[in-house]
Amino acid sequence: MASYPPVQIPVDKDEQRKGIFCGIVIEVTAPTIPEPDDYPSWSELIEATVQLHKCGEQPSAADYQAAEMLLLQKSQIDSFPEEYKLLKAKRPIPSNSRLLTLSPEYDESSQIIRVGGRLRRAEGLETSAIHPIVLDPHHTVTKLLIKDYDSKLCHPGPERIFAEIRRNFWVLRGREAIRRQQHLCRECKKWKAKPVIPKMADLPPARLRLQKPPFYSTGMDCFGPFQIKIGRRCEKRWGIIFKCLTTRCVHLDLLTSIDTDSFLMALRRFVARRGRPWELFSDQGTNFHGGEKELLKRRLHLSALNYNNIWLSRKYPSISTHQMPHTSVVPGSARFVLSKQPFVSPLAHKQ
Ligand SMILES: [Zn+2]
Repeated sequence: MASYPPVQIPVDKDEQRKGIFCGIVIEVTAPTIPEPDDYPSWSELIEATVQLHKCGEQPSAADYQAAEMLLLQKSQIDSFPEEYKLLKAKRPIPSNSRLLTLSPEYDESSQIIRVGGRLRRAEGLETSAIHPIVLDPHHTVTKLLIKDYDSKLCHPGPERIFAEIRRNFWVLRGREAIRRQQHLCRECKKWKAKPVIPKMADLPPARLRLQKPPFYSTGMDCFGPFQIKIGRRCEKRWGIIFKCLTTRCVHLDLLTSIDTDSFLMALRRFVARRGRPWELFSDQGTNFHGGEKELLKRRLHLSALNYNNIWLSRKYPSISTHQMPHTSVVPGSARFVLSKQPFVSPLAHKQ
């Protein structure tokens, strides 16, 4: 078996060159806080700040507080750079500074500018209320903070938000900043919108029976039931209201039941006391339907017998009845149902 000799490859040492590293070293530092303009709400901004620092670890409550302080500190450095630097170095701020009237102080523990104020001797107040954190109204952090308060307090008036914010923060020209923020808030606009009152139609003729006696045009309605006690047992009673549509006079009575007979008896008592109405308005109650049929039947029957009934005789015009549809309100009577409760209850107890 033939074998080949090993092949020696000649190496040209003159062609070997040293390796040269060629590159650019860029030092990238991660931002300490996210950009506030990129977040629509204060809570989302804090959450993003916490996540940036914890890098996926489970954050604690202290982490959220630290993130909030970090954002506030950043907003102060952006808004009051010179004052922040001078106060940190324990030097006086310029005489034309916006913070001069607040006697600002640098808080070493939180590294934040706070209001000095004159409440140091106040007892029972928290430190954040005695020395609130100073904020610039035009900074995004302040705007998000106001928006957060507005949302949590369910969009109240500007003074309410201002009072709540003042517990922890001193926003320069705060009322103006809150009003500006609420002007942009859709929910605030919705709540503060004034309803457009539609133009009312002309009054019906029944409301304009001038120079006529009371109860000439009468609306009637039933309400209840009320529970009453007779001895040891409980029974139900209903109320009926007659209301003059022109003079607003009111006549109240009790019904032992919600049937036709009770209604007719109440109507008879009403006519005996107030006089016969020329027209009656009611809703589509079954007792009113039954009463109307009964009245019509009796009128025919009694007129055939020539019976001299006081309110069905031929000397007086008969009562014309109008029954309103379900969707409409009986003119002038149904709206009284709620307001007459205190007057009706004592009457019901007398039964
Ligand atoms: Zn709002």
